[in-house]
Amino acid sequence: MVLDRAAALAAIADEVRACRLCRLYEGTTNGVPGAGSPDAQIMFIGEGPGFHEDRQGLPFVGRSGDYLNYLLNLIGLKREQVFIANVVKHRPPDNRDPLPDEIVACKPFLDRQIEVINPLVIATLGRFSMARYFPNGKITQVHGRPKFEDGRAYYPLFHPAAVLRNPDLRRDMEADFKRLPELVETVRQQRAAQARPPAAPAEPEPPEKPTQLRLF
Ligand code: SF4
Repeated sequence: MVLDRAAALAAIADEVRACRLCRLYEGTTNGVPGAGSPDAQIMFIGEGPGFHEDRQGLPFVGRSGDYLNYLLNLIGLKREQVFIANVVKHRPPDNRDPLPDEIVACKPFLDRQIEVINPLVIATLGRFSMARYFPNGKITQVHGRPKFEDGRAYYPLFHPAAVLRNPDLRRDMEADFKRLPELVETVRQQRAAQARPPAAPAEPEPPEKPTQLRLF
């Protein structure tokens, strides 16, 4: 199963690297499909590759990546145990925000990655991935508030780069992050309960012997 998932993710990654569906590939060095465990219980979705990500073809490297590693370490995980992807897979020029048509063009790649991995928790990092699941949400209001749907938890978090720019967010970010193991366990139990066969109906009580009428 893990091998099948790994092969499916590798095929998606090859398509991403060759993709010309939107303008974002122009001027980039590498496509950045995403990286991590095909069997991840937690999937993180960020915004788009930056300078270092484009150079290395990997998501969340550089300072944001270091901070994400630090956060993962807080909950006893390494990045090889999770999967990290972005809503757009090529770097927007000068790190501008991805445009709506670019997000739409790139969406099928992310949808397929989610389908293959089937994570228990999808943690969104920043506004653009949050908008997939919380279209009217404001990150300052919804961060750290999970939504349980489709047999998983959707969990909005600040973007690590935003926390590095604004250290006042650090306490909230780290408190939110520490709830991830609890969400994984909650969804794991929900899925296990759904997978259990329904209890067999109780044996009906034998009918009471009819009282014999005394005729004499
Ligand atoms: S950003 Fe996505 S849709 Fe646009 S070229 Fe890259 S892989 Fe294709």
